[in-house]
Amino acid sequence: MPDLFVVTVAVLFGLLMGSFANVLILRDNRLSTVWTGRSECPHCGRQLGVLDLVPVLSWLVLRGRCRSCRAPISWQYPLVELAMGIMAYLSVSIGYLALGSAWLAGTWFISSFFLLIVTGTDVRTQMLRVEYTLIVGLVAFVGNLLSGFLSWQSMLTGLLVGGGVIAVIAYGWKLATGNLGMGEGDIWLAGALGVLVGWPNVVALFVVAVGAGALVGVPMLLKKGQGKTLPFGPFLILGALISLTSWGDQVLRWYLL
Ligand SMILES: [Zn+2]
Repeated sequence: MPDLFVVTVAVLFGLLMGSFANVLILRDNRLSTVWTGRSECPHCGRQLGVLDLVPVLSWLVLRGRCRSCRAPISWQYPLVELAMGIMAYLSVSIGYLALGSAWLAGTWFISSFFLLIVTGTDVRTQMLRVEYTLIVGLVAFVGNLLSGFLSWQSMLTGLLVGGGVIAVIAYGWKLATGNLGMGEGDIWLAGALGVLVGWPNVVALFVVAVGAGALVGVPMLLKKGQGKTLPFGPFLILGALISLTSWGDQVLRWYLL
């Protein structure tokens, strides 16, 4: 199959899965309502037609407003769809076309779908969905083994270092201040991401996550005022993504050499 065809199909499928991710993020991940309830405008209750459900495009054509009542539609919709389209592109072009493994491309695609839901839910409700992080860890373990991308030793080290670092920070903070500085979900997430990227990539993951967390998070916390907690999950996920690119290699070189 020509590469362009494979990539196009993957991106289109990614955009569609992005729409599905939106539904799961907004309905607080209760699967039953996803299947029984029809999508409708939360403002006027108008049921959405097929034309309203084309990823990214329908939002752009309607300029972010409901077709009948003109109420604004959250930019979360096109953003999540676009993000999943980009993740599909990266998974297929790097995992399948460059590294030659359909298993690896599939692993990354499925992982990004669940991680996108984890990110969206974390940002929206400050709740980290542990069950989705466990799926990511499991899918990553099987996919990395089947593709030969990572050895089980590399994944085990990634799991222990990833989950361990966050656990030490969280429980150390608890000893010092009396409450858990981070959500327990972050420990699970860091462990699952450690399996996904393996050792030594997990080092780059933390460097990027802590750096981005400090750059973006601290000003945000100062603006919001004290007593707010920062969702750290999205920064860990960003770190995982970058640790698998050539930027991640450079971060590793700075830190390990
Ligand atoms: Zn409406």
